[in-house]
Amino acid sequence: MHFEDDTIAAISTPIGQGGIGIVRISGPGSFIIADRIFSPKKPGAGLKKSHSLTLGFITDPDDKSVVDEVLISFMRSPNSYTREDIVEINCHGGMASVKKMLEVVISQGARIADPGEFTKRAFLNGRINLVQAEAVMDLISARTDEGRRIAAEQLRGGLSEELGRLRDSLTTIAALSEAFMDFPEEDIGPLTTNRITEQLDGIMSRLERLSSTFQEARFFREGLSVAIVGRPNVGKSSLLNALLMKDRAIVTETPGTTRDLIEDFLNINGLPVRIIDTAGIRHSDETIEREGIRRSLDAIQNADFVIAVFDGSAAPTKEDLELIDRIKEKSAVAAINKSDLPAVLPLDPIVESGKPCLRISAACGNGLEELKTAIFNANLKNWKEEREGAVITNLRHKIALDRAAEALRNAAIVLAANQPLELFSIELKDALDGIGEITGAVTADDILNKIFTDFCIGK
Ligand code: GDP
Repeated sequence: MHFEDDTIAAISTPIGQGGIGIVRISGPGSFIIADRIFSPKKPGAGLKKSHSLTLGFITDPDDKSVVDEVLISFMRSPNSYTREDIVEINCHGGMASVKKMLEVVISQGARIADPGEFTKRAFLNGRINLVQAEAVMDLISARTDEGRRIAAEQLRGGLSEELGRLRDSLTTIAALSEAFMDFPEEDIGPLTTNRITEQLDGIMSRLERLSSTFQEARFFREGLSVAIVGRPNVGKSSLLNALLMKDRAIVTETPGTTRDLIEDFLNINGLPVRIIDTAGIRHSDETIEREGIRRSLDAIQNADFVIAVFDGSAAPTKEDLELIDRIKEKSAVAAINKSDLPAVLPLDPIVESGKPCLRISAACGNGLEELKTAIFNANLKNWKEEREGAVITNLRHKIALDRAAEALRNAAIVLAANQPLELFSIELKDALDGIGEITGAVTADDILNKIFTDFCIGK
């Protein structure tokens, strides 16, 4: 274990008014600080009894004023989140009260924690591995129940177990090749080579399977970004509002009024969808609108998926045809809006483009469920709720898995070409390092710092 010698503190609950706010302290000085500022209501009651709550008052030692009535808990090292001594002060959750509580704690010798520093200490002290530390963050930021489920499974250790099994299989092969290197007079022989090749193939396909889950599973962590595009007045803002079931964007009869990108989250069967309404794609001299158009073209490019909206009650325009062209290479669906009005728009050019085509009415709500299903199915073709094996949702993990698989491919080539076993061992070590990078067994400090800086304060 690697204990830090300073004591950190942070507000662990969201800033704002709430029934309870929690200030958390971790490190060797946390019990001493608590001693200085806390007095139990019943003298001596439960003080510093690990894992129990004690009622009492926090007093500011500087002016002896009472700060708040609180419930305080002590978690003695090593049985705590960070494995250090932890004190949590449950005070009243007001903007001023929680802030004052933190100030008093800091004045007694703690320092303000960096983002993610509690979890970083939990990792450095060996309570969780890096995958689990990242899962903590994913759990906090999960927007849908399915996203939460994946993160919770990762925190439990599902992915770590699978990586552990892969590492064990690789270590067995590495040990075998070391043994042959130690006794060069022993020839490795075709039988052993075949057996090793077979095992390598097995490990490679397990790595590839895991890596391939990223394609779809990542959406549950990052959200699927969907851009709503189309010329002005086809009903993009109305569609956004209808999908979100609230008046999020301003709907007007004047073309070109949505000048900014507006975005919000929608939950489609557990898939968090970040939906972006863009300014109409329209040729215009107005500078602001031109900027809006540029951004909406960027949105098409950057989005994972596009809903191209057309006005089914109007004759096609040049802009409609341009849009069909622009989304050619994109994963997209065409939504033919205003199905409550007589159908005028010929659908042939859209159908010919090969994109699925749905009649909807943003105003009446027709076809919206079908549209949501189309978005889900187009992006999660292989997704099964009851799946076997772990999934990955983090790009960092995918890059490391691919590196490990690549190293194994090279190892197989080295072996097949009868090259020196030392070269084979180097490739195996590279593959093992790739896996070790994911769990944090061999991760450089700067990567660690980068991971934890993305965390929220107080976790
Ligand atoms: P945007 O410029 O593409 O964002 O279009 P808006 O959402 O602002 O809508 C333009 C106009 O079309 C408004 O007057 C809406 O009320 C109307 N509209 C939108 N959807 C429908 C629909 O499904 N049916 C009908 N009849 N009118 C609609």
